[in-house]
Formats: sequence, C-alpha cells, structure tokens
Amino acid sequence: MNKAIIIGAGPAGLSAAITIAENGVSVIVIDEYMKPGGRLLGQLYEEPTGKWWNGIKESKNLYDQAIAAGVEFKLQTPVSNIENQDGFWYVYTEDEVYTTSHLLLATGAAEVPLPIPGWTLPGVMSVGAAQVMTNVHRVKPGERGVIIGVNVLSSAIAMELKLANIDVAAITLPKMNRVTEKSGNPLDVMNSLLHVSHMAPSAFVKMGSKLMKNDFMKKMGITFYPKNGVKMWDIPIMLRKAVVEIYGEDKVEGVKLATITPSGEVIAGSEQNIEADFVCIAGGLYPLAELAAVAGCPFYHIEELGGYVPLHNERMETPIEGLYVAGNITGIEGAKVAISQGITAGLAIVNSMDGGKQEAKLLDSIKAIEETRNNAYIQFHPEVKAGKQKLQNYWNLHKKAVAIN
Ligand SMILES: Cc1cc2nc3c(=O)[nH]c(=O)nc-3n(C[C@H](O)[C@H](O)[C@H](O)COP(=O)(O)OP(=O)(O)OC[C@H]3O[C@@H](n4cnc5c(N)ncnc54)[C@H](O)[C@@H]3O)c2cc1C
Repeated sequence: MNKAIIIGAGPAGLSAAITIAENGVSVIVIDEYMKPGGRLLGQLYEEPTGKWWNGIKESKNLYDQAIAAGVEFKLQTPVSNIENQDGFWYVYTEDEVYTTSHLLLATGAAEVPLPIPGWTLPGVMSVGAAQVMTNVHRVKPGERGVIIGVNVLSSAIAMELKLANIDVAAITLPKMNRVTEKSGNPLDVMNSLLHVSHMAPSAFVKMGSKLMKNDFMKKMGITFYPKNGVKMWDIPIMLRKAVVEIYGEDKVEGVKLATITPSGEVIAGSEQNIEADFVCIAGGLYPLAELAAVAGCPFYHIEELGGYVPLHNERMETPIEGLYVAGNITGIEGAKVAISQGITAGLAIVNSMDGGKQEAKLLDSIKAIEETRNNAYIQFHPEVKAGKQKLQNYWNLHKKAVAIN
C-alpha cells in the first residue's frame, strides 16, 4: 500500500503524521536529528495565562500520539535529494530510497549568520545553538554571555538562558555593514522590538512601547534611548551600542562595544570592553526550503514570511502534484501555527487519497490555522498575514497562467 512520507519530525511533521495515521493511511517520518520534536524541543516560556510551554513535553506528547497511531519513524536520517518520476516521489537518504505518491516537506527554518570580526573564536555560537545546549542537552554554553542581534528569537532565548541561571551581560546590535544593514540599524530594530513588548515583564516597557506608535515618537525614542540599554528580565537591551569585535586569545574573552548614532554609525572613541565567556549571534530565521527547490517548486521572496518560500495554497499544496509543505518552510511562525499547518497538510493528503472525503474537516482546519495565528504569543514577523495574502495572490496568478496555457 502507498505510504505517505514526511520529511521533518518537528511540530508540523508530527501533527501531519498523527492526522494521516489516525485516518487510516500509513505514513513514515524521516528526520536527520536523533530525537523527534525539531525546534520545538528547545522552547520554554511562560504564556500570558501563566501556563508554561515546555517544548520537550510538547514534543513527547506529539511523538507518543504518533506512535500510538502507528506512525513509522526513521531518525538520524538526512534526506539529500528528492525527485519525481512518473507521478512518484523518490526520497534519497544514505541507506535507502523511499517512494510515495504524497510527500510532505516540513523541514523548518534555519538561522541567518551575521559576520562579525572574531566570530570564528571558540565560544561563539548561534543563539539557536545556545538554546539547544541549555534547554535540550541541559549544558550551559558558558557563565556570562553577550547576544548580538536584537529580535524576537534572541529576546526569547535570552530569557531562557536567564532561567538556567546564566548571566546575559547584554543583548546588543552588530556593527552595521552591508550584511547587517537592517539588524544593525537602531530604528529598524526598535520597530521589530515593539512587537515583542507584550512579552516584557516590565509595565514600564509595555507602556513605553504603546506610546511609540508613530514614526516621530519612534525617532525620539531611539534618539533618547538610554546608552546603557533598557532592562528586560534584568538584561540590558542595548539599541544604541554595537559590537565591533569579539576578542580573545584562544577563545572568547569578551566583546568590544561602541556607542552608535540613531542611524547606526559608530561614534569614534566610544569603544568599551565587556567580558564574556560566550557570544551568541542572532541574525534571525529563514525558511529551510532547499528540498522544495530541487523538486522544481516555484519560489517567491516574501519579507513578511522571512525570505524565500515555496509557492503553496492554504491547503498546504504546492503546484507540483503530490508535494505538500507545512510549518516554518512556509514562513517563520511559532510552533502552535506549525502544528495547525501540519494538521491541514495531513488532511489535504488524506483528502487527495480518499477522493475528497475530508473536505469539511480540511476547511475547518484552514480556519483553525488563522485562529492560532491570531492568538500566537510569539510572532516573528508582525505582517505575516499580509505575507500570506501576497503568496495567495501569487498562487492565484500561477493557476490562471496554467489554465491559459
Ligand atoms: C534555532 C531556532 C530556534 C527557534 N526557537 C523558537 C522559540 O524559542 N520559540 C518559537 O516559538 N519558535 C522558535 N523557532 C521557530 C520554530 O521553527 C517553530 O516554533 C517550529 O518549531 C517550526 O516547526 P516545523 O515543524 O516547521 O520545523 P522544525 O521544528 O524546525 O522541524 C524541522 C525538522 O526537519 C528536520 N529536517 C530538516 N531538513 C531535513 C533533511 N534534509 N533531512 C531530514 N530531516 C530534516 C530537522 O532536523 C527538524 O527536526 C525556532 C527556530 C529555530 C531555527
């Protein structure tokens, strides 16, 4: 019997697998990591309701449900290529080639690196690596760290490091250059930061961010932003300082910080050293979509979704027969949205196999994605809905073009 294949055992892949298996269709999930859960494994935060979102527990729940439903897993198995021949997908791994008529890509996201002098020193890591060390492997990345890059992910992970009793000396900007044009610009960063102000434990920061609604107030805010930062969870968030260099003899010993103007230029002579034994680089996330590219799926660059995303519709179908996508490959959002998208992709696959019997459930699941998105605690891109609409417009254009030809 034809088995559906899912690449990626993150929240999107796991929820899709459960949905498919619970509807009586065999399914196998392939993942290169040794544990199921993907990036969900590293997540740990308190929601506004006071409930803790513990990624390890959530992953285990999903995995247990998948096993109970009869899902098969191939872990520690990277997929290096996919190909379509005569309506069948060939999924290449080191040991085996798997085939299916219905393939779901749920490969998640990757981190954007920021080149900074000294970034090859031992002790420098991506902020996601620090999250995995701390929350998944329970190993401290160091005693005192500096995070370079102020964004939703770095703010969330800084709080998680604090919970693990790790001192975060500062979250600060990278020195502006052609690569760090946006992440090194205080005004751009302030804009993005205003969207996480609801996560701030300080009423002062929450109130201050509400006042920053118009561009004039934002400019004033950044001009008079305290040079030593505003504290969130007792960590100074420095929007008027940038790291010009990470220094150390054989490993990280600290960072050289300079004061910057509101438009990001370094003020000469303002440099100071901050001691640290590890440094995290936080350049943001982008959809990990190479497998969709090798499959020949059309791509669009949509800033509001985090980069290049494979063309797909709200049913998580791509224009290529039998190829589906779900989770962060479709745009950067939190795990709950990924779970909802996985359910929709799973139902779309079953629907295609059983001649449309899941249509009503499928339509409900599409609405559920929207609701989950509206209630999301973490929002990586505030204009994600506009991004999704852009993609839907591209989809409609694509369908029209295909119909004309
Ligand atoms: C470093 C990092 C930290 C994050 N931290 C947070 C956070 O704190 N809070 C939050 O809400 N969101 C966070 N996210 C966003 C996160 O991606 C989503 O919350 C959610 O996990 C997305 O689910 P997903 O199933 O789409 O992808 P993921 O959870 O990323 O799962 C994708 C899976 O696909 C596998 N995979 C990828 N390529 C291949 C291949 N070629 N072969 C085999 N397997 C493959 C990976 O090993 C992974 O297990 C983070 C993302 C990253 C990259």
